[in-house]
Amino acid sequence: MENCIFCKIAAGEFSSHKVYEDEHCFAFLDINPKNAYHTLVIPKKHYTGIFDIPEDEAVFLMKAVKKVVSLYSEKLGLTDLQIINNNGKNAQQEVPHLHFHILPRYKDDGQNFAWPQTRKDIGEKLDELLEKLK
Ligand code: AMP
Ligand code: ZN
Repeated sequence: MENCIFCKIAAGEFSSHKVYEDEHCFAFLDINPKNAYHTLVIPKKHYTGIFDIPEDEAVFLMKAVKKVVSLYSEKLGLTDLQIINNNGKNAQQEVPHLHFHILPRYKDDGQNFAWPQTRKDIGEKLDELLEKLK
């Protein structure tokens, strides 16, 4: 897609610190890293997010995530990480080209990716939530 920075990175038209590439996917270091080896894994084709990527393409993407994780495990001995994927403005997505963050975590790294507050009021209505899926 024109004017999409991640499309340009995947096509090699914009520089990046590439860590992995295959026919379908591309992985590179985040330019504003939250830790060493903070990585973004993207499909080469433009999809805005998890809602519009077809299932078979999503499989390729998750395989690429696993490849990068295996690489870091093998080369760096990495044992702890978070995989984060934001979709849509309300979910704090900044770049509208689907991407998974791989965020390595290290002992005493000083970072704290805290969960949002627990919503007890919602916890009391789980049956109601399931009803709406029927
Ligand atoms: P998100 O909030 O999930 O959309 O995160 C977008 C991420 O893309 C941020 O962590 C940015 O630092 C990262 N980012 C934006 N532009 C670039 C770029 N040119 N190269 C590498 N990472 C980028
Ligand atoms: Zn794109």
